[in-house]
Order: sequence, then C-alpha cells, then structure tokens
Amino acid sequence: TSIFGELEVPAPIEVFALTAACNEDTHPHKVNLGVGAYRTEEGKPWVLPVVHSAENAMANDPTLNHEYLPVKGSPEYCKSVVQLLLGSDSKAISDGRAGAIQALGGTGALRLGADFLHTLLKYNVFYTSSPTWGNHLGVFKHAGFTDSRQYKYWDNEKRCLDFEGLKADLMAAPENAVIVLHGVAHNPTGMDPTQDQWKEIAAIIKERKLFPFIDLAYQGFATGSLEADSWVPRYFEKEGFEFFCAQSFSKNFGLYNERVGALTIVSANAAALQKILANLEILVRRTWSNPPSHGARVVATILNNPSLFNEWNQHIQTMANRVLLMRDLLFKKLKALGTPGKWDHITKQTGMFSYTGLSPNQVNYLVKEYHIYLLKSGRINMCGITTKNVDYVATAIHEAVTK
Ligand code: PLP
Repeated sequence: TSIFGELEVPAPIEVFALTAACNEDTHPHKVNLGVGAYRTEEGKPWVLPVVHSAENAMANDPTLNHEYLPVKGSPEYCKSVVQLLLGSDSKAISDGRAGAIQALGGTGALRLGADFLHTLLKYNVFYTSSPTWGNHLGVFKHAGFTDSRQYKYWDNEKRCLDFEGLKADLMAAPENAVIVLHGVAHNPTGMDPTQDQWKEIAAIIKERKLFPFIDLAYQGFATGSLEADSWVPRYFEKEGFEFFCAQSFSKNFGLYNERVGALTIVSANAAALQKILANLEILVRRTWSNPPSHGARVVATILNNPSLFNEWNQHIQTMANRVLLMRDLLFKKLKALGTPGKWDHITKQTGMFSYTGLSPNQVNYLVKEYHIYLLKSGRINMCGITTKNVDYVATAIHEAVTK
C-alpha cells in the first residue's frame, strides 16, 4: 500500500486532453479547434522568423552564459515590457511609479499578483467574467482566495456582451474585491467591451473602490496593432488607478513553452512601487527563485532593436489578419449553407477565439462524427481553420445544428 493510495484523481485538464485525443485520432480530416495557440494556413505551429533570427544571434554570441537572472528578472526585459504596455510617453513610467517583475508566462504573473494581494493586502474576494479562461479560478484559489465570484459577461441567447448585467454585478461588489479583467481579446468569448463601455467599467471600479487586475495575454491579436490592443491598461493609467497587469508573450511572440510573462504594476507613487517590487521579490524567491532567461532575452532583444521590432509588428499583423480572414470565411460559408441561427458574432468577436454558441450536444456531435475537436463550451480557436478545411468545418457545424 502507498501513503498516496487515498488520493483522488482529478478530472483531466480539458484543453490538453482534447489535444491528446486529437493527436491520437487517425482520421484524415481531423481538425483541432481546441488548442489555444496560433496555427498557420498549413495548420502548423509558427516559429516567428524574427524570433528565429534573434535565437540564431544568441546561439553565436560568446558573451552570453547561463548564470542566474536576478530574482526580479532581467532588468532590460522588465523595462521594455512596461514600455510596450503603457507606451514610451507614459506618465507613470516617467514618474517612476510603473514597473514589472518577470514571471513564468501570464499564468505565473497572475499567480504572483494573486499571492501578493492575498498574502500582503489580505484581499480575499475576486471576480472573474462569466465565462472566463478556465485557469483563472484555480490560480486565485491556489493563491489562497476563498471567495470566488463572477460578473455577468456573455449573453448566450443574444450572443453578445451582457453589459447591463456586468455593470450591476460590479456595482454590487464589496470594497477591495479584485476584478480580473481581460484587457483585450476576451478568452473564451472573443467579445470585448467598447471603449465607451470600458470607461463605464472603470468608473464603477473607481467608485466602488475595487482593485483592477488586467490580464493581457493577446496584445496585438485583436487588431494587429500593439498600441490599440493596450488601450485598456493605458486608459486605467490615465485615470489614475493603481493596478496590476499580467502580461503574456506566449501568443504574440509564439514563445509558448519558454514561459515569458511579466507582472506589471502601476502605483500611486515611486515609493509604493519600490515597496511592492521588494515584496514581490520575496514571493518569487520562495516560489520559483528566479525566472528562466531564454525567452525573456529573445523578447528584450526584439523590443530594443527598431528593425527587429518592426519585423515583429509585421508578424503580428500576419497572425491577426489570418484570424480575421478565417472569421470572414467561416461566416460566409455558414451563410451560404443557410445554417439556422445568427452567425455574425463570429465576425464581431476578436482575437483567437470564437464562442460559437454551439451546445454541448452539438460539440459532441462534431467530435464524434467529424473528428473536429473543440471545447465543451463551444469555444473554437479560429487559427485551427484554414482555407483547406473551412468547407469541412462549416458543413459539420451545419449538420450539427440541423440534425
Ligand atoms: N490569460 C488568458 C486569458 C489566457 O488565455 C492565457 C493562455 O491561454 C493566459 C492568461 C496564460 O498564458 P501563459 O501561457 O503565458 O501562461
């Protein structure tokens, strides 16, 4: 017998289980619409050419070594990612009250921020959108938060934002509740508030004295413009908020397995920022001690070289445009087939994902009959669609809806 014999086996993690099932499937027309990663028109992962050249240069640079990074991460990287987020003309940066600490992807940044808020400020209530990225709840709960609440977000009947419900829920939130906000390209719905709606959201957060924690995992993916896609954190800065932002470079640099992220902080003054960073440093020391270097070096190299930066911008546009094209194609195919229902949400949504509105039964039908893999919630990754499989996917959706 084992001392571990009594352990319960948790349910598999849906998105990884789905990819494993798809990989095992031998059907020639199988499609993976589950995974949250960019795919090319050939359905393949994409190593960004600019990342490839930065890595090549690094491989041949005799001055580089594998010494530990500082606990807070590479200073050059931290400085660059704050600028990318807030813009180089940011007042918070010039005042010395904005800074970042390197983290293990966006997930690590969320966990670190949640640890800080719970351990040091004793915050215990957090709100996520309904629905939200599956990991938000787990990350905050594991950081010690015990009061998990949701604000309304998606109106499944009308397939759009439930903005009145969202506002009502935030209005009812208790002081110091942490509000997790998807800064751009909401996962899983792909539906973002408009700028006017964000202004109203910010006003409620200010009035109710709530704490904004922005999750920015898809900067560049919504519009193809890095600047446009960081409108939300820049607006919160201009409105004088103190807030955290979890930045992820997994998607926009295609550096998924290098775990490159940052917890970025905007505070009221430089003294507060230094105190926050010093406390975060201790939390990091106790958690992963110091971050990995490779991905952060790639990101910092590209962000600090105008010609590489320009090239990266073009790659982002390539990715964003491909997604837009696939949205358009899928929508047109469904219209042409006369598939019952309104499908224009597919073209209104932004970022990698679309919340199709397909029911669990319809999802099951797609998996079983067509070998098209997608999450039970009906979320699809638009990048899994290509000009070659869009007819197949649209026909399958049509069948699932009309059968
Ligand atoms: N936040 C959201 C909304 C995401 O969709 C993801 C990744 O899927 C993350 C955070 C975490 O990204 P990372 O892989 O950098 O940890």
